[in-house]
Amino acid sequence: MTAHTWRNWSGTATAHPSRIARPRDEGEVVDLVRAAVAAGSTIRAVGAGHSFTPAAATEGTLVHLDALDRLEHVGPPAADGSRLVTVGAGIRLHALCRVLADHGLALENMGDIDRQSLAGAISTGTHGTGARLGGLATQVHGMRVVTADARVHDVGPDSPDGGADLFELARLSLGTAGILTAITLRCVPAFTLTAAEAPLPLPHVLESLVDLAVADHFEFYWFPGTDVALTKTNTRDGAAPPLPPLRRFLHDEALANGVFEVTNRIATAVPGLTPHLNRLAARALGARTYTAASHEVFTSPRRVRFAEMEYALPAEALVDALGEVDTWLRRSRENVPFPIEVRFAAADRVWLSTAYGRPTAYVAVHQYHRLPYARYFRAVEAIMRGYDGRPHWGKLHRRRAADLAPAYPRFADAAAARGRVDPSGVFANSYVDQVLGAHTEPTPAR
Ligand SMILES: Cc1cc2nc3c(=O)[nH]c(=O)nc-3n(C[C@H](O)[C@H](O)[C@H](O)COP(=O)(O)OP(=O)(O)OC[C@H]3O[C@@H](n4cnc5c(N)ncnc54)[C@H](O)[C@@H]3O)c2cc1C
Repeated sequence: MTAHTWRNWSGTATAHPSRIARPRDEGEVVDLVRAAVAAGSTIRAVGAGHSFTPAAATEGTLVHLDALDRLEHVGPPAADGSRLVTVGAGIRLHALCRVLADHGLALENMGDIDRQSLAGAISTGTHGTGARLGGLATQVHGMRVVTADARVHDVGPDSPDGGADLFELARLSLGTAGILTAITLRCVPAFTLTAAEAPLPLPHVLESLVDLAVADHFEFYWFPGTDVALTKTNTRDGAAPPLPPLRRFLHDEALANGVFEVTNRIATAVPGLTPHLNRLAARALGARTYTAASHEVFTSPRRVRFAEMEYALPAEALVDALGEVDTWLRRSRENVPFPIEVRFAAADRVWLSTAYGRPTAYVAVHQYHRLPYARYFRAVEAIMRGYDGRPHWGKLHRRRAADLAPAYPRFADAAAARGRVDPSGVFANSYVDQVLGAHTEPTPAR
């Protein structure tokens, strides 16, 4: 019998860790890892529990790193004004943004919320939107990681003796490289964003993607069954007036959260109303333009609970893939009162990044937490697989290591590095064994 129950934000994963630990410093993390290895047990760090998959789940020791949240170092400015900043890996993104702002700095790009821990966000490949930019892991320059030998490794892209491989794995490893205790990020000078939000006809948006996606940060939401795309175009250092606080509250809290919860409850009780509610929602969240600090524009509160699956596609496959999703939704008449979200990212070189080696379009499907999602997500997953889609590691999907491996050119390198730093699988859980393969025998470093 175990004493603890852990549940993730969306309620889609539960675990019963034998122990919950809250180390106060790196030394205590080392002790915890040593103890887990000696006991032949497992150990995993958890951030904010915002992954929809059981990425953080463990029956062994669950480690909260909330105490490792300090600013450690701010480096000198590079020629472009960026600086390397080292922070405790457990810091939450909202706290990190405040610390950076105090130093006149910011993250280059962010996803749509700021509740995650930094370590958790990079470990699953969390990303925002911007066709010239990568996800959070691409902003990582170095890290300290406690591996299964109970040693602290301080690694970066040029580290000798297998350190560079450990770095490549650890900056997106679902926790399989070890426990991250500190992360060094390349941060840019603080900037403002002007957000231009506008409903546009979906066919127009799909025809104009090449032009629209050249913006610094472009994304759109599409409510199933409608022909409207709610576009959001964020431009750096713009000059629109800020939103009056009451308008911001009405949009972000009342419409996007309060009323949205009510429309979802109605859609759950009376599915026949969903197409009308979707049309209403697409109209209600109308046009607005405002300027604010970058992190205030990138992120907003998400209080309506949902389940999510997100697929990364080669950017050129987006229009055809969305067309197939539309056809399936219309044929199946699936009850979906949540919008589909489309974002963009540049190709990157992070081994297990969903944008590895190709300009990427992300398609995220959501379902209200009181409605079933399995049939919808299965159908969309089948479509996305047909376009060589890669699932977000922190969002729901049904893929396995055997069929993910061919989608990632560096999959075997990641597996080999994992085998070397964690030969007995002390950082494993059933989810990472499912998606990365059961831990392998160590292979010698190149
Ligand atoms: C409302 C909502 C909005 C979201 N928006 C976006 C978005 O815009 N873009 C996007 O890409 N994703 C998004 N996500 C997904 C989310 O960013 C990821 O799932 C992220 O991993 C969650 O961070 P976390 O701190 O909650 O990590 P957790 O879910 O707690 O953990 C994630 C993984 O990181 C590992 N981990 C945590 N800490 C450490 C550590 N110190 N060392 C080693 N491994 C560690 C865990 O073991 C686990 O494998 C969203 C999720 C929700 C619920």
